[in-house]
Amino acid sequence: MSKNFKKSMLSLILILAMLFTFSGCATTNPNQSNSNANSKTQSNSTTNTASNSEKIKIGLSFDTLNLERWPHDRDFFVQRAQALGAEVLVQSANSDSQTQYSQCQNLIAQGVKVLVIIPHDGSAIAPIIEEAHKAGVKVLAYDRLIMNSDVDAYVSFDNEKVGELQAQYITKLVPKGNYFLLEGSPTDNNAKLFEQGQKKVLQPLVDKGDIKIVGEQWAQDWLTQNAYNIMQNALTANNNKIDAVVDANDSTALGAVRALQEQNLAGKVAISGQDADLANCQLIVEGKQSMTVYKPVREEATKAAEVAVALAKGVDIGANGKVNNGKIDVPSVLLTPIAVDKNNMVDTIIKDGFHSLEDVYKNVPKDQWPKQ
Ligand code: BGC
Repeated sequence: MSKNFKKSMLSLILILAMLFTFSGCATTNPNQSNSNANSKTQSNSTTNTASNSEKIKIGLSFDTLNLERWPHDRDFFVQRAQALGAEVLVQSANSDSQTQYSQCQNLIAQGVKVLVIIPHDGSAIAPIIEEAHKAGVKVLAYDRLIMNSDVDAYVSFDNEKVGELQAQYITKLVPKGNYFLLEGSPTDNNAKLFEQGQKKVLQPLVDKGDIKIVGEQWAQDWLTQNAYNIMQNALTANNNKIDAVVDANDSTALGAVRALQEQNLAGKVAISGQDADLANCQLIVEGKQSMTVYKPVREEATKAAEVAVALAKGVDIGANGKVNNGKIDVPSVLLTPIAVDKNNMVDTIIKDGFHSLEDVYKNVPKDQWPKQ
């Protein structure tokens, strides 16, 4: 063997060894641009985990990303899933059931191992479960349950409790008077659970004659504009004689407060919400919205990513309960919601870094800001 031949063989071996070493590195994720996640931490941990096993593909299907909470869910989910070595394909259906259905079919066709769905309509999406199972794909219902199906798991908050917290707070503030119920989207199973929780608290007071429910309406797609129209009509129909509004979430509360404001009633009529959206936290510290229900979405989305990876690996998901969807008891992870008003805003939402003090108190004179 000539000296030159030996030399080129050695170089070839060296090049092959280098190629082999680098091929273990993280691949880029087409959806990464959707995420605010810290890419440096992610690719480090991705490399660690991914080198031990094949990369898991997860499909994440949103009803919408147009309401304030959902981009937070997306970012926290993607961050955790990537840290666990998974790749996430994100889709949003713009509040359309058919679009969501075909996006889910498309995700299955792209080879995801797990489909995580926030359904626009918990019943309309149900047949996708069978299609997914036929393709060997597991399905996790995220935040909103998928009805009458063999869905594999559910991660959410205790949604009836959310409704109880809203009604408990408002009835403490306004023990007697005329109540209006502004409910969420009729296609969202959560909206029904919030209502159930609220009525558990309200019904005994109605029976006692302390409070009178003067109206109840559902805001399609949780839209602010729909809620504004509903509240405006409710005020007209009742000659402005409404003392309290049990409102299911913050996007609808925003519309309701706007309608109250036009009648100079903002701050005079008690009103609840949910999600700790920034605009609503601002209304709370300004005294125009009474409370919100804070559901730490970082916790929920992180947990969901862990459950999705567990489903892909076929290991225990760590359920802490079961929720019946009309067909089966779905193994569930349920987290605890927190009632927030201006008194515990700093200790909850601001302390968690969900919003900053500066953002929440933006419209309040600085000398009235709380000390952190
Ligand atoms: C969620 C709420 C949210 C609402 C509208 C519900 O299913 O649980 O947190 O406010 O959808 O997006």
